[in-house]
Amino acid sequence: MQIARSLLDQVVEHAVRDAPNECCGVVLGNDDTATAVRELENLAASPFRFDIDGRELLPLVFAEDDEDAEQLLAIYHSHTRSDPYPSQTDVNFAAGWPGVEWLIVGVPKDAEPYSRSFLIDGGMIKDVELTVT
Ligand SMILES: [Zn+2]
Repeated sequence: MQIARSLLDQVVEHAVRDAPNECCGVVLGNDDTATAVRELENLAASPFRFDIDGRELLPLVFAEDDEDAEQLLAIYHSHTRSDPYPSQTDVNFAAGWPGVEWLIVGVPKDAEPYSRSFLIDGGMIKDVELTVT
């Protein structure tokens, strides 16, 4: 997807603020272009995993019926103890959200945060381009 630097900064700032716990949230937009970032609460409040209240995600999915509405482009979360690459837990979670990108922010202890995006389909992980504008 394409995302403005200021929006990606919001995601990274959220990841840094919640470290060492993982953070999570969603990126909304149209036509593969991000228009908004919404922070969600990590119900697991854990450095190793995240959990989202499905009731917060479902209205975003239903909004997709309306062509003008912002769509759910990506679910984001952070990795504070490992590289920003989908874990098996992420792959399992992703099975419920086909076509939604997985934006992961790595927050290493002694290095700058960095972000990667993936599509996870049928258990297969594919890198997708994150175009920062
Ligand atoms: Zn993860």
